[in-house]
Amino acid sequence: MVVWQWYCGGMDVLSKGSTDIEAPSYCQVDFPLVVDKGYTYSIPSGLLHRLRLGMRVLVPFGKKKEIGYVTDLFSHPPELPEGTEIQPVLKTIDAEPIITREVLELVRRASEYYLEPVGLFIKSALPPSLRGGNRPAELKRAIALADSLPQVKLTKRQQELVDLLQREGPLTRKELSLLGGFSSSIVKRMLEMGVIKEEERGPRFMGVFRSSVPDVVEAIELTEEQKRAVSCLVSNLEERRYNTFLLHGVTGSGKTEVYIRLCARAIEMGLGSLVLVPEISLTPHYIGRFRSRFKERVALLHSGLSVAERWREWERIRRGEALVIIGTRSAVFAPVSKLGVVIVDEEHDSSYKQETRPRYNARDLAVWRGNLENATVVLGSATPSLESYHNALIKRYTLIELTKRVGEAKLPTVKVVDMRRENWPISKSLVKAIEETLNKGEKVLLLLNQRGYAPFLMCQDCGFVPQCPNCEVSFTYHRSPPLLVCHYCGHFEGPFDLCPTCGGEMKIRGIGTQRLQEEVERLFPERVVARMDKDTSKGREGSWKVLRRLERGEVDILVGTQMIAKGHHYPSITLGGVVFADVGLRLPDFRAAERTFQLLTQLAGRTGRGEKVGRVIVQSFVPYHYSIKWAKIQDFKGFAEEEMKMRKAFGFPPFIHLTRLLFSGKREDKVERVAAEVASIFQKSPKIQALGPAPAPLSRLRNRVRWHLFLKSGSRVAVTEALKGIPLRKRGVSIEVDRDPYSLL
Ligand code: ADP
Ligand code: ZN
Repeated sequence: MVVWQWYCGGMDVLSKGSTDIEAPSYCQVDFPLVVDKGYTYSIPSGLLHRLRLGMRVLVPFGKKKEIGYVTDLFSHPPELPEGTEIQPVLKTIDAEPIITREVLELVRRASEYYLEPVGLFIKSALPPSLRGGNRPAELKRAIALADSLPQVKLTKRQQELVDLLQREGPLTRKELSLLGGFSSSIVKRMLEMGVIKEEERGPRFMGVFRSSVPDVVEAIELTEEQKRAVSCLVSNLEERRYNTFLLHGVTGSGKTEVYIRLCARAIEMGLGSLVLVPEISLTPHYIGRFRSRFKERVALLHSGLSVAERWREWERIRRGEALVIIGTRSAVFAPVSKLGVVIVDEEHDSSYKQETRPRYNARDLAVWRGNLENATVVLGSATPSLESYHNALIKRYTLIELTKRVGEAKLPTVKVVDMRRENWPISKSLVKAIEETLNKGEKVLLLLNQRGYAPFLMCQDCGFVPQCPNCEVSFTYHRSPPLLVCHYCGHFEGPFDLCPTCGGEMKIRGIGTQRLQEEVERLFPERVVARMDKDTSKGREGSWKVLRRLERGEVDILVGTQMIAKGHHYPSITLGGVVFADVGLRLPDFRAAERTFQLLTQLAGRTGRGEKVGRVIVQSFVPYHYSIKWAKIQDFKGFAEEEMKMRKAFGFPPFIHLTRLLFSGKREDKVERVAAEVASIFQKSPKIQALGPAPAPLSRLRNRVRWHLFLKSGSRVAVTEALKGIPLRKRGVSIEVDRDPYSLL
């Protein structure tokens, strides 16, 4: 219970959620809505034997009827304000509970800690088809090869379609068009010819995941370091004892293989494993390795699947058919009934933090869940978050280290280029390195953490920079199509040539990924350059089209944002270039140095994963900055030590517990006043230091004025208690609580 006490100070939530009530005649129902609490309903005698904890029910709610979740049962009505009339449950929606007791408990704790409604968390825990009152969605139709191929002559195109299906297995029409550009007329023709057939599609995986499954599973002999890690984790698992391990392994040290061995042991014991990854569409290779090892025992949970697929996967997990569940953050609520292992890969990644309501950090909930279910929790990273590293140093977590890359692979060499005396945006050293790499037939990654064409349009004469009318943010200039786009609210306008204030000439300033691609194509006209960023990865297919081209060796230079630094394993990539390492360092955020260090180290981790040594070139105007200095020698501990000193001196996490309150509304005076009133509540608390209120760095977004207030405290319990009285809304000003915030803008 150590972890739980750390987070919530032993708050007595376990005593809720009564299990063995003899004759429950009342229940609590929570709703998938932003309402402040659940409500009590009576259970009519006809439903007494049917209604159970974790089911959906239809109940009267104000003048309407609403679907809600049964979250507690009582034999006597709780004390309610005088005159409250308890209404009856109208009907049950499910035959069986759709949420397990353990997940319900997790959700309760999350709700207490993050101050978000229980119902919102349950909604996140369920596949979309079960969130409201609807029944699971229909299965999709997919196209497969006919059982016996008729003796017909195929055209070249038709043969290509057959080959594709042979390689990928059944595909939907959409996938056929996407993967091979096959039109519906060719599909129709081949259906008529009896070469292919259309069938209901079961719980399958998107083509990209199947194609990455190696046919033969190589017998991998573990390295000494891996063996030690596995035996330590497995013996903890065999004792069925909660413990969290921080697996700090340099990039390419074989962490994934360690996870796989641990999951394999869990399967032998009949236990499930939950494997959380930051973004599934970026890691087809990774999924492929789990799939080739565990076949149909693997389930995937992420938003790239169709509604039907998500429901089917969810069902396979609930029935215990799938025992290794790989998913993104909301998979932390997956209905695994006997949980043995919880893995959070790339645990430092900020995508574990959900920034919309309900706000939560899936990495932290994963630890709580492991704690609740006596599971072995592994947080893995080459660049652990300082929070987790601190927990390891004070022995709350157990540190396991993998210090060497597997096999002959060496860590890449890193060179820092001082851009104060070099060509912008691509230095001579970088051009030379790219040439050398491509001439050897190897590939290049170029990272620039800024999408769009250029971050500004600026008047040459008066310095005017056009801003979004809804937000206190300058427009990003996009070239194809030419637009000024606000990256916060999505508002866009056509660009203009002349300054609206002085008539001067507007010039493009700075560089984004679109412009970088153009620049690289100009320098290397005979090479294939591709781009991967939020703009190229829209939709369900995300970035896997680009990744497949990369996998097939069709791309020479991949330009992109931080997405390209995440988890890939392509041995042909031997050069990584960071075009402008300082992008993140300028943000007013205490994690700026940590993020920069992580990004540089992770990019270095993508290079030289085969036999050849990789190299990285980092371009910076502040080459002496310590995050760059430590990334240059890829020394996590050195960086962590220096950064920890700063955090301690200035009072930032992991040494204190931080909470951010965000106030937003239409009118500045009101927002300011409400923020000041709320701040004064905390000024009385001796255990909490309140900083602010002050205008947020993004002081206006989507036409709303924003102020914020920070709470620093050594005690999470004190903050939880103090926050309990804070309303969600006050005089038209909305108040959002963000505990352990990642975004400070
Ligand atoms: P990490 O997750 O630490 O970056 P991976 O688990 O992706 O590293 O391992 C890198 C590569 O090394 C993968 O292709 C993996 O299959 C391979 N590998 C892992 N362990 C071994 C081993 N003991 N022997 C040979 N190859 C290994
Ligand atoms: Zn805007």
